[in-house]
Amino acid sequence: MIAFDLRCDQDHTFEAWFQDGQAYETQREKGLLTCPVCGSNRVKKIPSAVAVCKRYMGKDGCTSKAVLSEVLNNIYTIVKENTEDVGAAFAQEALKIHYGVIESRNIRGVTTPDEEKILKEEGISFMKIPIPEKISTKGH
Ligand SMILES: [Zn+2]
Repeated sequence: MIAFDLRCDQDHTFEAWFQDGQAYETQREKGLLTCPVCGSNRVKKIPSAVAVCKRYMGKDGCTSKAVLSEVLNNIYTIVKENTEDVGAAFAQEALKIHYGVIESRNIRGVTTPDEEKILKEEGISFMKIPIPEKISTKGH
């Protein structure tokens, strides 16, 4: 099931559930979709973040796995585009940057729990993000 936020030509907004996107198109084309406020059948979908969220909504609401993995993919893409992959050398590189040994830059890589402890003790801030399954299975 998919929930769409719809709006009629009188600017009334309402929500409707459909079997799938095609069901929405079919019902709209046949004029079966009517505004619960004024009865107008000239309604259209409102593209919104809420609608996207509802599209994936499971028992656990918006925290469903599909939403999370999509969010993670976006974060990972941003991180990937803005950082240099230093792999296992992450801790050493982060320490060098921290002490001004090398020029500051955004890096990403992997750490061991021991290295993370050292980084924390040195007061180096880093963020850990899980690599999305889709990407990790490609061997990155
Ligand atoms: Zn209306």
